[in-house]
Amino acid sequence: MRRPAPRQPALQKEMKKRKNKKTEHEPSPKKNKKSKKNATDVQQIGAWIQFRLLQRETGCSNSSLNKIADSFSIPMRIRRQADRLILQKSGAKVLELNGCISCHKFVWTPSNKSTRCPQCNGRRYHPGSKTPLERAFYFPIRAQLRKLLKLKSFRDLLSHEYNRTCNSKFMSDVFDSPAWQQIAGLPSAVLTRILLHYCVDAIPAFAIKHSISLKPCCFLVLSLPPSLRYKASNMLLQMLIPSKLKGDFR
Ligand SMILES: [Zn+2]
Repeated sequence: MRRPAPRQPALQKEMKKRKNKKTEHEPSPKKNKKSKKNATDVQQIGAWIQFRLLQRETGCSNSSLNKIADSFSIPMRIRRQADRLILQKSGAKVLELNGCISCHKFVWTPSNKSTRCPQCNGRRYHPGSKTPLERAFYFPIRAQLRKLLKLKSFRDLLSHEYNRTCNSKFMSDVFDSPAWQQIAGLPSAVLTRILLHYCVDAIPAFAIKHSISLKPCCFLVLSLPPSLRYKASNMLLQMLIPSKLKGDFR
């Protein structure tokens, strides 16, 4: 029986080269599976962000939104990841503040771990628990404005006062009022200031009657064009206070 002729070293080298080339261009099944998973994650993150935008328009609750997401099989891991992304992109930060219900003169920030009020020795938490007696949520406005000012479209809108057509004989907007001119002065071609109007009101949470009532403290951006400045979606939320603090808000 004749033995097969041994392969030439050059031929073996060429075959090895071709084999390596093939593996370079064809992703391994493991890699393929991973990239498919990443693509699905990106799609589901996009879907959850769309759901959050719809929630903003309709005012539906988190529980309703989660039920819709369940029917689309969007995992909780993805929802949390998308929420973190929204917070990061919007510059939104939230701090929980606790107030003293004995003297109403002291507020604990998250870094303050004391349990007694330094002014009146009043309690911070319910007896025997870690539940604060009074809590409010604070969203620092500076971080939100910093992110917004990075958008050219937002900066252009803030220049509305300078760019608009107006007639000095008529008062057509808040910009024409004597108070505005006294406080803000004349506008310039380069944006140097933003005027904000502080508003506090109480609303039922989730637009449902008899549901928990909240007291949002918002800023209206007066420098925006009038058609945009009064829309809730363009206001900057600074604080959320439980309605039971009505009358105690100082
Ligand atoms: Zn106190």
